[in-house]
Amino acid sequence: MSSIIQLLPDHVANQIAAGEVVQRPASVVKELLENAVDARATDIKLIIKDAGKSLVQVIDNGLGMSVTDARLCFERHATSKIRQAEDLFSLHTKGFRGEALASIAAIAHVEMKTKQDQQELGTHLVIEGSKFVSQEVAVLPKGTSFAVKNLFYNIPARRNFLKSDIVEFRHVVDEFQRVALAHPQIHFTFYHNGSEMYNLPPSNSRQRIVNFFAGKTNEKLVPIQEATEIVTIDGFVGKPEFAKKGRGEQFFFVNDRFIKSGYLHHAVMAAYDGILKEGAQPSYFIYLTVPPNTIDINIHPTKTEIKFDDEQALYAILRASIKHSLGQFNVAPVLDFDR
Ligand code: ADP
Ligand code: MG
Repeated sequence: MSSIIQLLPDHVANQIAAGEVVQRPASVVKELLENAVDARATDIKLIIKDAGKSLVQVIDNGLGMSVTDARLCFERHATSKIRQAEDLFSLHTKGFRGEALASIAAIAHVEMKTKQDQQELGTHLVIEGSKFVSQEVAVLPKGTSFAVKNLFYNIPARRNFLKSDIVEFRHVVDEFQRVALAHPQIHFTFYHNGSEMYNLPPSNSRQRIVNFFAGKTNEKLVPIQEATEIVTIDGFVGKPEFAKKGRGEQFFFVNDRFIKSGYLHHAVMAAYDGILKEGAQPSYFIYLTVPPNTIDINIHPTKTEIKFDDEQALYAILRASIKHSLGQFNVAPVLDFDR
């Protein structure tokens, strides 16, 4: 009997892993923005071309990387954010898997410039399809710039699978919005094909929400607030009279990370029980802060789903808090004149 099992070379393993982390240009946007936030940047620029298909660039003024780290960051399972498995239960960063950059570099042309504050000179590095092309010393500002070009250039099937620029652009805006809403104190700018899409000065969450969803958003929102041992709740929910058919703008953030939760959405809807027109859905922007050891984020590579230790308590507290706020602001039942 001959043996037939072989270990895959790194660049092949990276390309396979990339399939999970990187679905479309918006996935690159998410990973790069989150890395910039983790690097404690106060100013983050997002520049894309052709809805991100030809270029996704993120420039930050964060911590930067040393010469050695500038190379190491592209290795799989290379991370500065955790050291041991236990650290997963005290996470204060967006990243921890050490997978994103290795994956992105496997399926695109990447140019990186980085410099730490205390260094005289920085590093300018090019990597394409997991292969280092060049690494030079360069005069650079503090921080890091990643330019990701020609995504999926070596996986034609994936490239062909991308949707129209309009659709891909929408996905990019969604990811940008999620990160920018989670971090209102950071200055974000966003350019598409040379035009400025957003310029969001440092502010608070209410102002950031209003910046995104112009119009009368400010008058349409009711603040919510609650502090218990299990969870601290902040944010805003829409007044019921502004609820519309179909989904409104609905956001949950847990420890500054956007998440999706059908269960918590249900808790919100339960708080509105009896005061919404049939089929109408309120907008909400809900920021939950929980002890990091009471959640598990490591369910899926994109980390948009998480597991809570005490989901039922969270549900009850959230529902009660929203009910209380809606009552406090004299939100009367909607009279439905159509009937
Ligand atoms: P993760 O974020 O899970 O650690 P990544 O592949 O996204 O994995 O990044 C690998 C490492 O590269 C990070 O842990 C960090 O040390 C470094 N890094 C990535 N982006 C930046 C950045 N914008 N500024 C400084 N360091 C960065
Ligand atoms: Mg990361």
